[in-house]
Amino acid sequence: MRHIDVREVADAVQALCQKANTILPPDVYRALQAANANEASSVGQMALQQILDNADYAQSEGLALCQDGGVTIVFLDVGQEVHFIGESLEEAVHSGVRQGYQASFLRGSMLDRPFNGKNTTDNTPAIIHTRIVPGDHVTITVLPKGGGGDNGSQMQMFTPAEGIQAIRDFVLNTVAKAGPGACPPLIVGIGIGGSFDSVGVLAKRSLLRDVGTLHPDPDIKALEEDWLHHINQLGIGPQGYGGRTTALAVHIETYSRHIASIPVAVNLQCHSARKGTATL
Ligand code: SF4
Repeated sequence: MRHIDVREVADAVQALCQKANTILPPDVYRALQAANANEASSVGQMALQQILDNADYAQSEGLALCQDGGVTIVFLDVGQEVHFIGESLEEAVHSGVRQGYQASFLRGSMLDRPFNGKNTTDNTPAIIHTRIVPGDHVTITVLPKGGGGDNGSQMQMFTPAEGIQAIRDFVLNTVAKAGPGACPPLIVGIGIGGSFDSVGVLAKRSLLRDVGTLHPDPDIKALEEDWLHHINQLGIGPQGYGGRTTALAVHIETYSRHIASIPVAVNLQCHSARKGTATL
């Protein structure tokens, strides 16, 4: 059994919030550069260059990549041989978010209740997804998730009789309907399988994969390539100005399912695809 003080968790979450909100991950930056080189639309190219310039400026000045600091999604993979010491683990995560957002002057985007709510001013509470895994380490991943991408996201239950074509149409319609509001170019995160409650988390977890890394299953990989091709035929383009780069990648994650149901969630990630991971 390994003992970990939850203050270490809070410190790690704070550092990840600050880093993720100011430094675009290298895989995202490279994908945007490659898209810029391949974009046929001059206005689309200009939009991509502005996104890259903005990332350079944010990193050099330690400023927020976007005014929307997002909902702070925190994934915790907790080794089953870890024993936490101190306050509650979840309170430590919230505390880390509070300190990180305040220290870097990041906008608070969370209201304390859905209607007539007040801004909590420090972006708490986080949304926390915890898994118990083998070992004695804790892996913490922070994903600040912008409102535009989540607003354009959708979930639907399919029956097996509807088939893959219907799911593909649902994915394409979701991207088309979201249009510029989701701040493209997008990473289109898709969860397929599991249950009504779990498929949204599956889609969100797919966004943690390095951009453009394809699924190891050749059948799923083929869907990722085909659906990306069709999404980039929609003509929405970078920031909605038109062009061939509506999405940088399609990431599909799958899980076993009930014989009668195919849950599908499409979680759109905007170009400010922030994420950061640390292991204790
Ligand atoms: S969706 Fe993304 S790029 Fe658009 S405002 Fe929100 S965080 Fe910024």
